[in-house]
Amino acid sequence: MVNVPTYKVYEPGEIIFNEGDIGDCSFFIEEGQVEIFLDRDDKNHTLAVLGENEIFGEMAIIGKLPRSAGARALTRCSLGIIQKEQLSDRMKEADPVIAMIIRVLIQRLRREVIGPQAEDRRKKQTNEDEKRRLKVIRTTTAEEEKYALGKIKMEALLRNAIPNNEMEMHFQPIIHLRSGRVAGFEALLRWNNPASGLVYPDSFINVCEETNLIIPIGRWVLEASCQGLARIQKRVNLSSVAALPFVSINVSGRQLHDEGFFDCLERARTSAGLKPQQIKLEITEQIFVQGQRALEWAEKAHFLGYTLALDDFGTGYSSFQYLGMFPLDFIKIDKSFIMKMLEEEKSLVIARAIVNLGQNFNIPVIAEGIEDAAHAQNLISMGCDYGQGFYFSKPASIEDTIKNYQQKKKQSAA
Ligand code: C2E
Ligand code: CA
Ligand code: CA
Repeated sequence: MVNVPTYKVYEPGEIIFNEGDIGDCSFFIEEGQVEIFLDRDDKNHTLAVLGENEIFGEMAIIGKLPRSAGARALTRCSLGIIQKEQLSDRMKEADPVIAMIIRVLIQRLRREVIGPQAEDRRKKQTNEDEKRRLKVIRTTTAEEEKYALGKIKMEALLRNAIPNNEMEMHFQPIIHLRSGRVAGFEALLRWNNPASGLVYPDSFINVCEETNLIIPIGRWVLEASCQGLARIQKRVNLSSVAALPFVSINVSGRQLHDEGFFDCLERARTSAGLKPQQIKLEITEQIFVQGQRALEWAEKAHFLGYTLALDDFGTGYSSFQYLGMFPLDFIKIDKSFIMKMLEEEKSLVIARAIVNLGQNFNIPVIAEGIEDAAHAQNLISMGCDYGQGFYFSKPASIEDTIKNYQQKKKQSAA
C-alpha cells in the first residue's frame, strides 16, 4: 500500500485547488479558514468561508466531475486529507438508489449554487482529453443510474404485486431418500409480473430484502405456504407422501425484525389446520450476524413447535461453532456441490463431509440440486437423509403438484 499524506499545511493566500482541476481528494479543516471562490470577469466571488471541522472538495469526488469552484487558505490552515477511495469505496458499497440520489443532488447543487455560467465556462475550458474523460465518466454514471432506476421501478411494481394477486407459491417435494417417500415440500415464491411473465426470486428477492417489502411479502409467503400445504394434504392421499408432510418456508434475515412474524405464522398455520411440526423455517448463515436476536428468534420458533433448517450450507462461513450453539434441526447442502459432485472431486468431498458433520452432530441432512439418479444413489450411499431436486420434481404450482400426485396414484392403481 502507498503511504499517502493525511494532513497538509497551507499558508495564507495559498491555493488549495482551482476550479476545473481534477479532484483526487477532499479535505476537512483541522485548523484555520478556507475560502471557496469563483473567478468571474477577473473578479473574485466568495461563495463560502469555512472553518474548523468543515469538509470541502467532496462534490467533485462523489459527482466524478472536475472541481466546480476554487479553494484558498485565508489563514494558515492545517487540512486533513480524505482520499478519493475513502469516499468512492463507500459510494460503491452504498445502496445504489441512495448513491444515485446523492449524485443527482450534487449535480443540481452545482447548477444552482455555482451557477450556469460556471458550467459553461468549464465546458469551454475543457480540452479534448478532458472531454473524453468526462464522456467516460458520464457513461459509467448513466449505467449506475439505469441500474438504480431499474431497482426503483421494480420496487414500485413489487409494492402492488400482492394487492394485484401476482404472487404465487410453487412447491417442490423433499424426499426421504431411503424410503423414496415425500417428506414435505419447499415453498418457493414466484411473481407473475404482467409485463414480463413468471419471475424467479433470484431477480427480485434482493430488492424486497433491501427495502421493507420483505416484511409484507414474507407474511404473505407464510399464509400462502400454509394454505398450499393444506390443499395438497387434503387432495393428495398417497402412500408415497408422509402422513404429516411439512412445508419448508424460506425466511430472510430482515424478517427477524418483523415483530408480528410468529403471530402471523401461528394464525396462518391454525387457519390451515396444520400441526406446528409441519412448519420448517429455512434460514441461512447470514442471520447469525444478528447474534442474540437470532438465537432468541430460533428459541421462539422451537417453543412454538416449528423446526429449523440451515439452508445453503457450505457456501458461507459455515462456522462449526454455530452448529453447536444454534438450535438447528436440519442442514441443507447447497445445490452447487450436489450438481457438480460427479464431475468435480472437490464437490463430492464437501458433500460427504457435510453429511458426516450432520451425522456427528445428530442433525439430519437434506441435499438439494439432485438432478439425476446417480446423484441420489451417491447421497444414499453416503447416508444422506433427504433429497430435493429436478430429478424428483421441479417446483410446480399447487394445482400442478396435486395433479402430478393424482396421476401417480392412477398410474400405480393401473
Ligand atoms: P433456495 O432456498 O436455495 O431454493 C432452492 C432453489 O434451487 C430454488 O430456486 C429451486 O427451484 C432450485 N432447485 C431445486 N432443485 C434444483 C435442481 O435440481 N437443479 C437446479 N439447478 N436448481 C434446483 P428458486 O425457486 O429460483 O429460488 C431461488 C432462491 O430464492 C431460493 O434459494 C431462496 O433463497 C429464495 N426464495 C425463494 N422463495 C423465497 C421466499 O418465499 N422467501 C424468501 N425470503 N426467499 C425465497
Ligand atoms: Ca431454501
Ligand atoms: Ca438452498
